[in-house]
Amino acid sequence: MNQADSNALSNDIYADAIARLDTAQEHAHIDPEALEKLKHPKAILTVSIPVRMDDGSLRVFKGFRVRHDDTRGPTKGGIRFHTGVSLPEVQALAFWMACKCAVVNIPFGGAKGGVIVNPKDLSRMELERLSRGFIEQVADFIGPERDIPAPDVYTNPMIMGWMMDEYSKIRRERTPDVITGKPIPLGGSLGRDDATGRGAYYCVKELEKLKSWNPSDIRVAVQGFGNAGQHVARLLQADRYKIVAISDSRGGIFRDGGIDIPRAIERKRERRTVSEVYSASSVCDCPECGCIECRCATEDQSTGELITNEQLLELDIDILIPAALENQITAENADRIRAKFMVEVANGPTTSDADENLWSRGALVVPDILANAGGVTVSYFEWAQNRAGFYWTEDEVHERLERIMSRAFAEVYQLTTEQSIPMRTAAYAIALNRIGDAIRSLGTSSYFSESKTSVLEA
Ligand code: NAD
Repeated sequence: MNQADSNALSNDIYADAIARLDTAQEHAHIDPEALEKLKHPKAILTVSIPVRMDDGSLRVFKGFRVRHDDTRGPTKGGIRFHTGVSLPEVQALAFWMACKCAVVNIPFGGAKGGVIVNPKDLSRMELERLSRGFIEQVADFIGPERDIPAPDVYTNPMIMGWMMDEYSKIRRERTPDVITGKPIPLGGSLGRDDATGRGAYYCVKELEKLKSWNPSDIRVAVQGFGNAGQHVARLLQADRYKIVAISDSRGGIFRDGGIDIPRAIERKRERRTVSEVYSASSVCDCPECGCIECRCATEDQSTGELITNEQLLELDIDILIPAALENQITAENADRIRAKFMVEVANGPTTSDADENLWSRGALVVPDILANAGGVTVSYFEWAQNRAGFYWTEDEVHERLERIMSRAFAEVYQLTTEQSIPMRTAAYAIALNRIGDAIRSLGTSSYFSESKTSVLEA
């Protein structure tokens, strides 16, 4: 994709995200005023972050924080460090967060943040200065009861720790509940590191119950071998699913006999940049996981095949798991997607026109606002533990997460079957009902015009 196409997609992304509300509202009972309110972000902040670089020069980075809607609770959403960050993208991500929190019924609204930067170009010290500088700029916009950030693409627990520390310094009190996804010694929750992948794994388990398949017959490809992608691949493989392809920003590998996921994760972790914050290795460099370059010897002695990210999406597999970035499945390639099931770990990997194509061809898509909600759910657990000052065991976290994910999946799937609509439309309809009920409870014109002699009447 050239830069012009990429910019056009970025500008369209928010419009495309909001357009989904109009389809979903036909299956929801949302008040028109509440629907109108939901189409507009509550607040947008653009910041410039001056950072002193190691060579003594000054660079100024651009960042954003968007709070979409806080009717159901403080807003919640990650911070992304990526060269492709744009305001429309952050707005779309904030809107999805609001819907996601409503789908799993946790008491948060939606927000998102981002900084335009390639973090792999920064030293660890520069990265720390940028992270602290971002918080300095947004400190009045966020807060434990206002807006609670978390990690997203190319941000991690270490960065969350720096950010929490910076906010605490500004407020002159310890505030672990201002941010989630922190390192465990700084108030992080057990079970947060794999929560997004685990939530998606629970969705696959729900599909397994519905379709009664044998996991060892199911071939899976995972696009994006980062935090979320690695964990879902690891959990599925441990449960006998066959992971035949994985990829990262540098490309992917395909191996018919299955890829050894723990070894692939180990290899990716071993190859670190000088900063030791980001892995510079690509999945294509893993000798033990099936790469043809390295001639690995695993169980069936066969080697893997290098593939592009585009080829990975179009493989003849059962479950496709996009776990990288937005806009990967579009009108251009939807016809060539052969997987019958898609579990969206990435936010917004499928455009709405691609969605129609997949639905008309019988593919079942478990949408991002359900499939990747495990991360925000355990972030909610972390925030609740920080506020209570009382910490849970990992088993308690897993049990509570599974309960929330299974219930949300069942609610969405029930509406899908009752109304013969895609799971995405059903998930949005449920989100609209929950957010709409909250907005209506604060008063809308229909609420006030109902035949009551007094607004104080029940
Ligand atoms: P991450 O930075 O840990 O990993 C991203 C991975 O995607 C990296 O391996 C990177 O190399 C790869 N990648 C980047 N561009 C790619 C491309 N064009 N093709 C293929 N791979 C590419 O990020 P993450 O936290 O795992 O997030 C991945 C996705 O999941 C994002 O869409 C994010 O918004 C979503 N998500 C993450 C969480 C979470 O808790 N981490 C929660 C909800 C949603």
